[in-house]
Amino acid sequence: MNLSIQPLIDLAHTDLELQTFIHSKSQLEKEIDTASSVVNHHKKNIEEKNSELKALVNESEEIKKNIQIQEQLITHLNEQVPKIRNEKEFAASKSQLEEARKNLGVLEENLLEIDINKEDLDKEMEKINVKLNESNTEFKQETSGLLKEQKKAEKQIAILAPRRTSLLQKIPKNIQRFYERCQNSGITTPICAIVDKSCSGCHMVLLPQLINELMSNPNSHKNCPHCKRILYFPVSEEETVS
Ligand SMILES: [Zn+2]
Repeated sequence: MNLSIQPLIDLAHTDLELQTFIHSKSQLEKEIDTASSVVNHHKKNIEEKNSELKALVNESEEIKKNIQIQEQLITHLNEQVPKIRNEKEFAASKSQLEEARKNLGVLEENLLEIDINKEDLDKEMEKINVKLNESNTEFKQETSGLLKEQKKAEKQIAILAPRRTSLLQKIPKNIQRFYERCQNSGITTPICAIVDKSCSGCHMVLLPQLINELMSNPNSHKNCPHCKRILYFPVSEEETVS
């Protein structure tokens, strides 16, 4: 059957295929983004923990220095003991020693606390590192497939987009303008077939009269009363109905 409506049908088919690939390409992009967001989350977490660890190391170095100062003071005070000449000097030395020992005790406790925190942080970082490695492996596995699919979709789009342009040039000017207006306003399939007695664009059920008119004259087309898309009656549908 050589229908003059054939260019419209070809355009509708090409557009449907093209839109499918465009949609799948954008879905793949989203999936790749999501996959990398998990890896990035763990990387950021590791960075934060690293700077926490650095702060603890600095604090610990500072405390170690102060411990050394107190220890040196205690040694010095002990060395002075034999030289004490009276009760007054003895009492002063005793109170200085007590003070230094007390300070040393507090510093050692602080150091211990920091060491415990450091150990906890190390364990946490180990866990995060495991997660990071897992998510990295997962990301590579996942995206290798996704990237292949994305390439395929891009290839199909590169074939279909120019085909669509050349098919568009074969249809009457008034339909071309309608078509472009539709696509500019977001209707990606301005021409569509009647499927299951409904418009395959908006899925609204069509009046039998409209279907009969198009069925009896398969070379004609009409606008969908609901979404204004151009409707045609597909030949295969006619065969299954009759
Ligand atoms: Zn419709």
